[in-house]
Amino acid sequence: MQNFDNFISGAFTPPTDGNYIDVYAPSKGEIYARVAKSGTKDVNKAVEAAQKAFPNWSKMPISERSQLLHKLANLILRDLDVLSQMETADTGKPIQAARTIDIPRASANFSFFASAIVNFSTDANIMEGEAINYTRRAPLGIVGCISPWNLPLYLFTWKIAPALAMGNCVIGKPSELTPATAWYLGKLVEEAGFPPGVLSILQGLGNEVGQAIVDHPEIKALSFTGGTHTGQQIASSVSWDFKKLSLELGGKNPFIVFADSDLDTAASMCVKATFSNQGQICLCGSRILVEDTCYELFKAKYLKKVAEIKTGDPTDPQTAFGALISAEHLEKVKGYIDLAKKEGGQIIAGGTPYKVIGLNGYFHAPTVIEGLNQECRVNQEEIFGPVVTLGSFKNEAEAVQLANSTKYGLAASVWTNNVKQAHGLAHQLAFGIVWVNCWMLRDLRTPFGGVKASGLGREGGIDALNFFSEPQNICIKI
Ligand code: NDP
Repeated sequence: MQNFDNFISGAFTPPTDGNYIDVYAPSKGEIYARVAKSGTKDVNKAVEAAQKAFPNWSKMPISERSQLLHKLANLILRDLDVLSQMETADTGKPIQAARTIDIPRASANFSFFASAIVNFSTDANIMEGEAINYTRRAPLGIVGCISPWNLPLYLFTWKIAPALAMGNCVIGKPSELTPATAWYLGKLVEEAGFPPGVLSILQGLGNEVGQAIVDHPEIKALSFTGGTHTGQQIASSVSWDFKKLSLELGGKNPFIVFADSDLDTAASMCVKATFSNQGQICLCGSRILVEDTCYELFKAKYLKKVAEIKTGDPTDPQTAFGALISAEHLEKVKGYIDLAKKEGGQIIAGGTPYKVIGLNGYFHAPTVIEGLNQECRVNQEEIFGPVVTLGSFKNEAEAVQLANSTKYGLAASVWTNNVKQAHGLAHQLAFGIVWVNCWMLRDLRTPFGGVKASGLGREGGIDALNFFSEPQNICIKI
């Protein structure tokens, strides 16, 4: 059986204590590999390797660092097939999603920051006739990057790429549920010719190796994507050390449809927004809010398209909707559907798990619920699965009030053909990202992140490069 070991100092290394955790294939419901159960001793080894690597890596000419990152991006694309298959086996997501979204985006993360770093410049503030101030942005040293299971290589590399580009050494930890592509990345890092110790990839449990990364005094910054509760734990762990912290957390995103919008396009995109990756994307819409004058018409169009979603074996290229990540997550989703019924909701699509012939995996039907108020738990808590609610609003003011009525503030999608209304709404919506007549349309230069319980700080473009560096003002008297 395959062992996913740690990647430390440029080589694959078993966990110091010799322990492993079983890895399940979500579409089969069976163990297919084992992953290193790492801990503090492994973090110490990775930190020692990073300390050795940092002086040369941080001083390497930017053009050389950029070339290495481009090389890694190209190797990821070269191995698109193998990486997509690994991602599908590990997550249960459809192979076409892994091939067209996850793995190409992982490559783009490296090529984007490889290009960004050669175009990076800093400010000069001139005190006329007296002095010149210039801002130097120095790498932080060793940084920790911790990512979740839903978009494994995509989100892991979204953190690692800017951190490396800026001249930091990185200790990364993927979710123990999805270790495969992060493990494979180690091979490609070695092949690309990165110096040993620049990137270490540690596998294992969040509350063990993850917490050891968070607590290590030599790790100067943490970039974390995951649940809000874990983010709170991490923030409280580092509060005495003043570590830099970037937190990308949960969401309960509204998808707001006005009667003047193109309802066919809105309904098609709404299916993607609600059920892509089985609803397991932080950006997925989970509360659909429709103007009352077009509620029934939109509902009919949306439900027709939901019924057409091609479920099945994730390895089949025709499949658009695969398995949930784990048996535990399937139980969580079922629990919320039971709760929705108790809270007075009517299930108008899906509502139950289903079987795929020949597979014993964690499959649950795309589920739509109506008749719930916005205050109920199903509309307030993040389910992070294929469960959405459908509700209506009377006017713009009510749309804003309903949309903003959760503790989360990650992303909103608004559908209207009225430009004035679009701007007005966007400015009132308490979300880090507002899409108008689109969803998950990403420009990697833009600030990415949420407000309220959805996070702290921004990833992407210049924000990521600034996060992974420390500004130093140098004032020279003329
Ligand atoms: P978790 O918070 O459970 O875990 C995220 C990562 O943190 C995992 O690698 C986990 O390891 C690790 N971890 C857990 N506890 C600790 C700890 N004490 N110290 C350090 N690391 C720790 O989230 P999930 O993996 O369940 O991911 C789903 C969540 O991620 C959802 O809430 C979703 O909204 C959010 N998310 C947010 C995104 C955003 O950009 N805002 C994007 C994608 C997802 P392990 O798995 O081993 O426990």
